[in-house]
Amino acid sequence: MTTTLVTGANKGLGFETARRLLAAGHTVYVGSRDAARGRRAAGQLGARARCVQLDITDDASVAAAVSAIEDDGGLDVLVNNAGIEARGGNGTVVPAAEVTADTMREVFETNVFGTVRVMHAFLPLLQRSAAPVVVNVSSGLASLTHAAEPDHPSAAYPGLAYPASKAVINMLTVRYAKAFPAMRINAVEPGFTRTDLTGNTGVQTVEQGAEIIVRMARLGPDGPTGGYVDAQGPLPW
Ligand code: NAP
Repeated sequence: MTTTLVTGANKGLGFETARRLLAAGHTVYVGSRDAARGRRAAGQLGARARCVQLDITDDASVAAAVSAIEDDGGLDVLVNNAGIEARGGNGTVVPAAEVTADTMREVFETNVFGTVRVMHAFLPLLQRSAAPVVVNVSSGLASLTHAAEPDHPSAAYPGLAYPASKAVINMLTVRYAKAFPAMRINAVEPGFTRTDLTGNTGVQTVEQGAEIIVRMARLGPDGPTGGYVDAQGPLPW
């Protein structure tokens, strides 16, 4: 039996990923920083969904989640999905000229430091798994190659904090994959998806967006590691 934790699984791509992995037979911990939202989501997902309160910016919350999952038998798959975008009061992405050190700190606190906090805390459990897998939910906006191409759609994105945070996720993916060759550790781009994070402006459904997250979460021990992929295949870094 494969046991999986999805962070930020109370809604959006995380919820859909949890739903699909449950259907594939995994036992899934639905991570949610708000316990009530997590219970509601796990209730919708059915009997094999277990909710765990997990705020990735909070050491105590992460430590409590590690103990609860360890006591229940351990962890095989970690989906680092929880993430935020930098949006101003009017709901639009904070443009480059208005990005401050505090804007960066807020986004990095969740997307970067939160991911490292969760990885560091769950590594001992993953190392005990026979087939450990980590999926880091990155973004197409993380690609330096695409951002530097004047005609690429990604070059038109106005902000700084979110793509910079996801570029860090890509580097962490490569470095963690090198450090832990027994694990399958990959970064994925789900594609522009209709969720709260995009103000529901995406072109894909969550079913389409979760496809590559689910595929990489189900990799076997012979699968690729240290990659950056979307549903169509490898992406340029
Ligand atoms: P979403 O619907 O806004 O979901 C984000 C999830 O992250 C929510 O469950 C949210 O919890 C959770 N979260 C935020 N801060 C957290 C924290 N400190 N601790 C724990 N959970 C936290 O957005 P989404 O589009 O599904 O995003 C999921 C992932 O996909 C993100 O990493 C995002 O960057 C990435 N992504 C999305 C798109 C897209 O087009 N949608 C494209 C590329 C990458 P609350 O409900 O409590 O806020």
